[in-house]
Amino acid sequence: MPAAAGARFAYGTKALRVISAGGRVTGLVTDRGVVRAGAVVIASGVWTPPLARTAGVRVPIMPVSLSECETTPLPPLFTQSIRAFGFGGHQRPSGEVVLSAGVNAVVRHDVTLYDLVDLPVWGPRLRAHRRDVKLRLGTRRILQQIGALSTLSPRLVPKGAPPPTPDTRIMRRAFAAMREVLPALRDASIRRYWAGMIDMSPDGLPIIDGSAGPRGLVLVTGLSGHGLTIGPGDRQDHGRPRPEGAHRPPDRGVPPIALRGRRHDAGEDDLT
Ligand SMILES: Cc1cc2nc3c(=O)[nH]c(=O)nc-3n(C[C@H](O)[C@H](O)[C@H](O)COP(=O)(O)OP(=O)(O)OC[C@H]3O[C@@H](n4cnc5c(N)ncnc54)[C@H](O)[C@@H]3O)c2cc1C
Repeated sequence: MPAAAGARFAYGTKALRVISAGGRVTGLVTDRGVVRAGAVVIASGVWTPPLARTAGVRVPIMPVSLSECETTPLPPLFTQSIRAFGFGGHQRPSGEVVLSAGVNAVVRHDVTLYDLVDLPVWGPRLRAHRRDVKLRLGTRRILQQIGALSTLSPRLVPKGAPPPTPDTRIMRRAFAAMREVLPALRDASIRRYWAGMIDMSPDGLPIIDGSAGPRGLVLVTGLSGHGLTIGPGDRQDHGRPRPEGAHRPPDRGVPPIALRGRRHDAGEDDLT
């Protein structure tokens, strides 16, 4: 649909820098040249902070990795999506049960020099959630940051990076917990593990913000592991015809849900 409306996709292209003039976005420098544009939406997941910084915007995103696994196929057991303490899951139409670690899922964060930048924001949260976050030293990344003399250079953003290593221990524990309440799972075994990166915001809510930087710049980030769920809702809100006189977002592109990143600045939120 976007292509029919004239959009062009530049797959395998890395955005390096937002360019602006007179307080207004004028485009983007990429590793394949400059793209001129009156508006730029940065929706680059865990890699949003380096790109946003080139527009003078600080975004407190913590990259964490989350694991899942899939069982061998079983006869139909349930159609709901389950989220419990210790496990979560749904069954594919083809019979496999896809498992997550549930409501209190433990995530992993590789500590790098970048963490020093937002330490005041994340420090108290990490203390409050120390049981839910496994910290590991991101040695390779730290060496890259030292080599680049920067913690936030977009050149440090990997192109086509392999996914993180899944935490099989956590997933086996979730599988055992689900088996306790769903004995039919005893006829299955885990046949595949995987993991992916999640862009955590400090309060777990998205940052959808058209007011943080030069005019025409919009951030959509910090989906905090709920992007697939939130996405359709947000689109519905944008696309729904509004009754006469109802609030309309200003033409500078501020989305109806103004979940501004600035709420994380000192004193503006006390959520841990
Ligand atoms: C294991 C796992 C399970 C999940 N389960 C659920 C679920 O059940 N329900 C749910 O709602 N959500 C779930 N999520 C979360 C969901 O996948 C994310 O919230 C969603 O993918 C975020 O979408 P996004 O487009 O904002 O970011 P991403 O999907 O991270 O996409 C960002 C893209 O930007 C690209 N990029 C980054 N920097 C640059 C650059 N400089 N130039 C060009 N491109 C760049 C990246 O390569 C990437 O393709 C899960 C996530 C994981 C890892």
